[in-house]
Amino acid sequence: MTRYLLRSVAPLGAERTDLLLGDGVILAVGADAREAAGRDAVVVDGDGLVALPGLVDLHTHLREPGREDTETVRSGTRAAAAGGFTAVHAMANTDPVADTAGVVEQVWRLGRDAGYADVRPVGAVTIGLAGERLAELGAMATSAARVRVFSDDGKCVWDPVLMRRALEYTRAFDGVVAQHAQEPRLTQGSQMHEGAVSAEIGLAGWPAVAEEAIIARDVLLAEHVGGRLHVQHLSTAGSVEIVRWAKARGIRVTAEATPHHLLLTDELARTYDPVFKVNPPLRTAEDVEAVRAGLADGTIDVVATDHAPHAAQDKDCEWSAAAFGMTGLETALSVVQHVMVDDGPFGWADVARVLSVTPAAIGGVTDHGRPLEAGEPASLVLVDPAARSVVDPAAQATASRNSPFAGRELPGAVRWTFLRGHATLADGVLTEADR
Ligand SMILES: [Zn+2]
Repeated sequence: MTRYLLRSVAPLGAERTDLLLGDGVILAVGADAREAAGRDAVVVDGDGLVALPGLVDLHTHLREPGREDTETVRSGTRAAAAGGFTAVHAMANTDPVADTAGVVEQVWRLGRDAGYADVRPVGAVTIGLAGERLAELGAMATSAARVRVFSDDGKCVWDPVLMRRALEYTRAFDGVVAQHAQEPRLTQGSQMHEGAVSAEIGLAGWPAVAEEAIIARDVLLAEHVGGRLHVQHLSTAGSVEIVRWAKARGIRVTAEATPHHLLLTDELARTYDPVFKVNPPLRTAEDVEAVRAGLADGTIDVVATDHAPHAAQDKDCEWSAAAFGMTGLETALSVVQHVMVDDGPFGWADVARVLSVTPAAIGGVTDHGRPLEAGEPASLVLVDPAARSVVDPAAQATASRNSPFAGRELPGAVRWTFLRGHATLADGVLTEADR
């Protein structure tokens, strides 16, 4: 296996040092690394680059099996590697649905065979995402895929009895129930955030309360049964308040925000361009501010992409007919740098926390999100924070083109991604995986 000597990189933005990678691990740090490198190591000039633990996404749609025209496990994990991710959680709303040990093992194997990122399948909470009967959570947990996160994402587990049972049952294997908080009756036919813009442009509104009511109910259920709740793609100021309250009360709840909810607002719906149509919808500038504040003070634990690739025909159409969702794996780090580092209170250690360490902990991905120290797995990423570029969906590795950041200039570029010592991205170029 190739050894890499990463010269003069800044781990978490701190003082520069050298890292020697080999045999899948960080072999040595500092002067030891230079001494131990020998002549055969590939030298990477890391001057100006920040080293972070490989990013971990808690919320990715890989679309395989079923919609390989929009993404495959291979194309999606190539996009992940290009974006600095070394592990992704693949949502269950595939066809067939990932609601059995057989399907989650299939997705896990596809990820292993592709070799670009560790794929951790998310198991469905209910059979077929139908919201009627609990899926075999235990069988998925004990399968080769070792599922720890369960979600009907795309749909809300609306039935409070099923939600309660899922929270209770997952306690047996320290699993977590990740909820797509969307009250279905309050959002029937909804197209965008309910507010001044929706009233003005005449698209059916999606009230903040439809999200907040479910989160409020679920934190109380989690308190009642002692289970672990994870709130997916939280998007409103009220949701931040509820999670803040629940955490202060000691309830076992974690929450994620997406890059798009940290940057974009419902004003973009005025374009009627369905690239801005997403579930939950883009909210107001006040909501964006509250979500940023919640991420800054730790109320929101992680940034997760909700990478949702769609075929051109499902996006290049009238707004009301278009699919919900945006791609995000290849822009997530740049958006977080822009919003939280360049224009916010974060240092790079905070970025590592919300995009790697904490998502790995929530998902139970024990060999990711690790310190950059000798003996640790060599799953890490080198970022150039000084780079700037204009987002071009046609140049991305994802098989779909529905990026809401297209044409926007963003800071930061991922230069190298290593998965257990193998470079999946080398000097900005995706490599052939060696599996
Ligand atoms: Zn969702």
